[in-house]
Amino acid sequence: MTISRILIANRGEIALRIHRAAHEMGIETVAVHSTADADAMHVRLADHAVCIGPPSATDSYLNIANIISAAEIAQADAIHPGYGFLSENAKFAEIVEAHDIKWIGPKPEHIRTMGDKVEAKRTAGKLGLPLVPGSDGAVSEIEEARKIADEIGYPVIIKAASGGGGRGMKVCESEDQLETLMQQAGSEAKAAFGDATVYIEKYLGNPRHIEFQVFGDGEGNAIHLGERDCSLQRRHQKVLEEAPSPVISDEDRMRMGEVCSKAMRDMGYRGAGTIEFLWENGEFYFIEMNTRLQVEHPVTEAITGVDLVREQIRIAAGHPLSVKQEELEFKGHAIECRINAEDPFTFAPSPGKVTYYHPAGGMHVRVDSGLYAGYSIPPYYDSMIAKLIVYGRNREGCMMRLKRALEEMVVEGVKTSIPLHQALLEQEDVQTGNYSIKWLEDWLKEREV
Ligand code: ADP
Repeated sequence: MTISRILIANRGEIALRIHRAAHEMGIETVAVHSTADADAMHVRLADHAVCIGPPSATDSYLNIANIISAAEIAQADAIHPGYGFLSENAKFAEIVEAHDIKWIGPKPEHIRTMGDKVEAKRTAGKLGLPLVPGSDGAVSEIEEARKIADEIGYPVIIKAASGGGGRGMKVCESEDQLETLMQQAGSEAKAAFGDATVYIEKYLGNPRHIEFQVFGDGEGNAIHLGERDCSLQRRHQKVLEEAPSPVISDEDRMRMGEVCSKAMRDMGYRGAGTIEFLWENGEFYFIEMNTRLQVEHPVTEAITGVDLVREQIRIAAGHPLSVKQEELEFKGHAIECRINAEDPFTFAPSPGKVTYYHPAGGMHVRVDSGLYAGYSIPPYYDSMIAKLIVYGRNREGCMMRLKRALEEMVVEGVKTSIPLHQALLEQEDVQTGNYSIKWLEDWLKEREV
């Protein structure tokens, strides 16, 4: 089995990332784009390009019929979905496979199971992953909710089974709020995800977000590539990620990594996946699994030397994993800053024309971005315009280099989150790695006063 032409069903930096891996493997690429992205870098670099619709994502990057037609017209033999958009759409994966096009992603049934958070938690429990205490499945009746919340103790978090992207969650501090919040969570989930199903979990006070990168070949072999610490978050969205985590011991990394890779072996998981945990007082609690490549995958690439996109393509083509667990070494430290086109402190979006662009460079500095001078950032999509990934022999060296790289990076014409990252690096807690998922919001609140 070979793959000779990949259609990239995405845009922006991740479309470029996939194009680069493909070209390094001698594989041609087909870009798809909306009319708003005709001049985008991912379209310019690809070997072929097909316009798939108007600016709205629903009509273009989420338009299954148009993407499949594009693949047929351009004679692509594989589709890589990137992250976001259709990457975790099991139906899309099935349609791709039904058209005899290789799906560069996990088996559709695994995407489906993990996409339903209630089902995912149940599966994770069966596979031996430690869970956040909470309801065993969906909760619809208020009496049942009361009983569970009493058992696990307040505060609790009500989460949408179909939620994602940090949306569809309500924290409930005490019993008198429970009924109202249950109703709100249900109707908001219905409006946002078309599914009112919610479940309840213990709300952890001050955890860190620790996730393990896993990879399976679909035949019962699987490895883990260590963890990433994504605790610096705003509104449950990651802002800066690092690997390894400053708080996870080598012993815990190998122990939890093995628990995760064993779970993937038992499932017969195929391709890249991320198992997300909250970590508090030395304990891991599974929250969800993402059945795709993550935005923050480059920090893992930096400390392991493994090209994760290349690995995804190899597996889709039917090759075995290119690296064995015992061959993997975790070396040095890497940090990624997500750079968005937005006000660095109010977070108001700032799309528009980039008048000047100078990416950072130098040793161990990687910039994944589709930006160029004269490019107009369209207002229709995600505000992330670049990722700056910096590597160092240790955490301290990595932070010094990151500071230097941020100084070099220039984006003019729009506001960006570069000043936010610079301010963060000045904070002692960030310098020492002393932060939980609450830290960033608390710090932002303090700045306002
Ligand atoms: P999503 O799919 O929307 O990303 P997750 O289940 O991964 O949802 O949760 C996103 C974030 O929400 C976590 O990184 C964490 O910050 C917060 N969170 C989720 N569950 C809990 C919990 N039980 N206690 C405290 N915070 C939580």
